Amino acid sequence: MKFIRFRSKETIYQGVLTEEEIRGIEGDLFSNWSYTGKTFSIKDVTLLAPLEPNQVIGIGANFIATEADRPAEVPTMPVFFFKATSSVIGPEADIVIPSGVEQVKFESELAVVIGKTAKNIAEEDVFDYVFGYTVGNDVTCPDYFHENGHWTLGKSFDTFTPLGPLIETDVDPLNVSVKATLNGEEKQNSHVQLMIVSTQRMISYLSHVMTLTPGDVILTGSPVGAEMIQTNDDIACTIDEIGTLQNRFVSASK
Ligand code: MG
Repeated sequence: MKFIRFRSKETIYQGVLTEEEIRGIEGDLFSNWSYTGKTFSIKDVTLLAPLEPNQVIGIGANFIATEADRPAEVPTMPVFFFKATSSVIGPEADIVIPSGVEQVKFESELAVVIGKTAKNIAEEDVFDYVFGYTVGNDVTCPDYFHENGHWTLGKSFDTFTPLGPLIETDVDPLNVSVKATLNGEEKQNSHVQLMIVSTQRMISYLSHVMTLTPGDVILTGSPVGAEMIQTNDDIACTIDEIGTLQNRFVSASK
């Protein structure tokens, strides 16, 4: 199923996207929702980020270019970081380049939406705890990476976490490619087999540190090819089985 959030007139709704229409739903996406009976046309609504995450956790430097580059050993402690939930925006919303900042880059990523409380889960059980998948753009400002290695600031400016266009529940997360085009030119296109730390391993690992809860979003890392952008660039992050998340970079109004 394809779950979306959207605005129609001045009201925000949740819905299920079908071939023909949007069917409005109400309740808790992860436990108890039902159809409202209301329907909408996709062309009459504004899509929003498909959920308001509890927390957004990313993993750093998680793709190799080719199998020949695979390190002999998987890192025992992956590099994780938090992104502020206030940085989340939806499809077509502008990504604002903060004033005074020189370098900003896009990072197209498979985003995992946790659906059940997960603590100390085994790698082979991880997908039992996943609700679905969306596309994320882990927008990053390396100027704000702290010299001591902390990435939180450089990942957390307002608008730096586009998510969408929808949460797809019927997708095999082990058999998708993560792509990005910048102004129509392909920059990223890698199969998730090129991850260093697998989705199962990263979620299992995190669950041994912190309790993951429904609505947590894990950004699973970006393929090689992410690069710095300019004002007015259009970025489209795509996973064919989920959809395309399109945004434009704009400069902050002073
Ligand atoms: Mg990233």
